[in-house]
Amino acid sequence: MLIDLRSDTVTKPVALMKEAMMEAEVGDDVFQDDPTIEQLEKKAAAMFGMEAALFCPSGTMTNQLAIRIHCLPGSEVICDKYSHIYQYEGGGIGLNALSSIKLRDGNRGRITAEQVKESINNPEDIHKPVSRLVSVENTMNKGGGSIYNFHDFIEIREICDHHGLKLHLDGARLFNALVETLETPGDYGKIFDTISICLSKGLGCPVGSLLLGSHEDIHRARGFRKVMGGGWRQAGFLAAAGIYALDHHIERLKEDHQRAAKIGRIFSDKDYVKSIYPIESNIVIIELAHNKAATDFVNEMARKNILCVPFGKHLVRFVTHLDFTDKLLSYFEAQL
Ligand SMILES: *Cc1c(COP(=O)(O)O)cnc(C)c1O
Repeated sequence: MLIDLRSDTVTKPVALMKEAMMEAEVGDDVFQDDPTIEQLEKKAAAMFGMEAALFCPSGTMTNQLAIRIHCLPGSEVICDKYSHIYQYEGGGIGLNALSSIKLRDGNRGRITAEQVKESINNPEDIHKPVSRLVSVENTMNKGGGSIYNFHDFIEIREICDHHGLKLHLDGARLFNALVETLETPGDYGKIFDTISICLSKGLGCPVGSLLLGSHEDIHRARGFRKVMGGGWRQAGFLAAAGIYALDHHIERLKEDHQRAAKIGRIFSDKDYVKSIYPIESNIVIIELAHNKAATDFVNEMARKNILCVPFGKHLVRFVTHLDFTDKLLSYFEAQL
């Protein structure tokens, strides 16, 4: 038995998803005539009440396309220091958008409107790059799957409008937030210029992310996707998995959250655990006691057939997902 909690990306497609994939009607997406991709993009755009969507191979690509379309060379992007766009996208803001970044120190990755306001450069000051984009992440991975209070987004939007800034959401795990809160995808569609969502994480698809936005923004993103070598052909086989996931795998995310909470309870009385981040969704981050190195702990867990990742010198991350069942949870508990 192997328990893989390194990420929620490790899930394998379920039988019915594979069936949907094999039966997909496909075409050439560079010519924009793959009917299944068109169906997925229309479905997602309608869910969020946004004009258009673009199906891409990864969430890194959808984030980078958003940054690319919103920024001109010499722009500055405002975001939290924990943001995926800064931490885990290979410096793409500099590479793809020729822009710089202003990092804020939020509350487990969540920034406030006040922090955004203080971060906007004076456009008259020629020493400064031009602030053009605010990017937020929900749920916030490096903050331990923390969830924003939606009211903060409303306030951040007001500041952006006042200063002519665009607002992007890295919603790789947005549906994890949505099943825990009262808001709907439509509420998010009204606030953000662009939204990136991952199908390959908790939703259980083998591949795929979506960028949502206006017709114009998505048209431009489609062009830059092509330049990056992301124009794909009969990818409708993959889009079919996305349609299946949006229909069948959203509500069940709550189960992943319950199992994450249980993992937190299991760790709470262990003397080798110093603290646990508040568990708000499917991510558990523990801080090890006695100065123990996260890499050593991860290796010890691997010997017990439990996979997790170091997430800082003394921090370890576990992510629950579709393939982590109650049976595996019992096994996990027995191993600790
Ligand atoms: C996983 C993830 C992404 C995108 O990752 P890809 O592996 O490129 O699909 C973006 N943002 C966050 C917060 C993520 O967790």
